[in-house]
Amino acid sequence: MDVRNCKRCGKVFQYRGHNICYNCITQEEEDFQKVREYIQKHPNSTTVEVSEATEVSIKTITRFLREGRLDCEGFDTSDLGLQCEKCGKEISSGRYCDECINELQSGFKEASKQIETPVVTKVKPREVVHTYDNILGKK
Ligand SMILES: [Zn+2]
Ligand SMILES: [Zn+2]
Repeated sequence: MDVRNCKRCGKVFQYRGHNICYNCITQEEEDFQKVREYIQKHPNSTTVEVSEATEVSIKTITRFLREGRLDCEGFDTSDLGLQCEKCGKEISSGRYCDECINELQSGFKEASKQIETPVVTKVKPREVVHTYDNILGKK
């Protein structure tokens, strides 16, 4: 049995693929609905306003944004100071800024391209013989 400490409340719980305990999963789901509803009803609210109105901690809201669960549309997250994990630029949601996402994606493409290209270069049979003769001649 895999037992861990809940990342949210710190209680020991039986690990089932989530970093938080069952109570917290339920709680987080409620928090998430509250936050989402509030943003829908009060567009352009700041994170602090949302947090105060819903009684959901800024930390939790930040996590929703980081995980990409919460859409930052109609929601002013500038007071959060969320930063790109790569370059430190201010972002509104997720983990990276648009530029770094593009860079990362092209990096992935570049890497897969290199894998796809065959490493062995084809050599014409005649050339192989020629080289072979040269080696023999030198010896
Ligand atoms: Zn918990
Ligand atoms: Zn960045």
